[in-house]
Amino acid sequence: MQIIRSVQEMQALAEDLRAKGQLIGLVPTMGALHEGHLSLVRLAAERADAVVVTIFVNPTQFAPNEDFNKYPREFDEDVAKAEAAGADYVFAPTNEEIYPKGYSTFITEEHVAKPLEGFTRPTHFRGVTTVVAKLFNICRPDLAVFGQKDAQQVAVIKKMVADLNFAVDVVVGPTLREPDGLALSSRNRYLSNTQRQEALAISRALNKARDMVAAGERRNDRLVAEATHILAEQRRIRVIYVSLVDRDTMEPVREAEPGRSVLAIAAWVDEVRLIDNIVL
Ligand code: AMP
Repeated sequence: MQIIRSVQEMQALAEDLRAKGQLIGLVPTMGALHEGHLSLVRLAAERADAVVVTIFVNPTQFAPNEDFNKYPREFDEDVAKAEAAGADYVFAPTNEEIYPKGYSTFITEEHVAKPLEGFTRPTHFRGVTTVVAKLFNICRPDLAVFGQKDAQQVAVIKKMVADLNFAVDVVVGPTLREPDGLALSSRNRYLSNTQRQEALAISRALNKARDMVAAGERRNDRLVAEATHILAEQRRIRVIYVSLVDRDTMEPVREAEPGRSVLAIAAWVDEVRLIDNIVL
């Protein structure tokens, strides 16, 4: 396993791998790796010859009031976990490598990125699309793996790839969960035991909607109302949105269409902001 710190070195390596005809698989992360991330690394290893895991806490996707400074950083553990899961290279650039002094170019997807997360975190996806486009140019992947946990991120990146003609196959891995249903997230470590208990209402709400759809319910208002009700029972939860949307456009749909519709939830559990979703 090789650790690469500079853009120049990563570009030279990618060039070299491509010249040898190796398929490059990219797994972009912000580190603090958990089984969810590692499942994506394994997926990449199944499909590609050379797996590059990037570890970069991207400052441009955090708003000034968000948790950029306190975001967990545990590089040595991450490298060991990535390697065990099948990574061949870890690309971990500094902020200055990615955004040198005077940096001024950004990519904005202007439609899919607008609702849901985009509405409450208006600069978030601009940071995501910019850094992912840069990682594509630096690492030259044939495929890039993202988690369904961030359903809107997947939709925005797929749209960017289509709109800008990136020759990258976007592969989506399923959401990994704790046995009790809580979606794995680097931010779960901010939760106390009681907060974590209450956070389980999020996956309960999603499962309820899934069961309702399995029983034939399709109506937006019924599904959203029931999920919201489950969240509202918790003292520490404040709902940001509960929305039934199309999985590609992220626009609300009147009726759930199995396989196409996503129920997306964002909620505060006290001061911890969590998101989760289910494809219905
Ligand atoms: P992050 O480090 O939070 O930016 O996440 C890096 C990648 O891991 C993204 O593609 C996420 O969607 C994905 N990811 C995060 N949590 C999970 C999870 N519980 N299951 C599957 N993928 C995940």
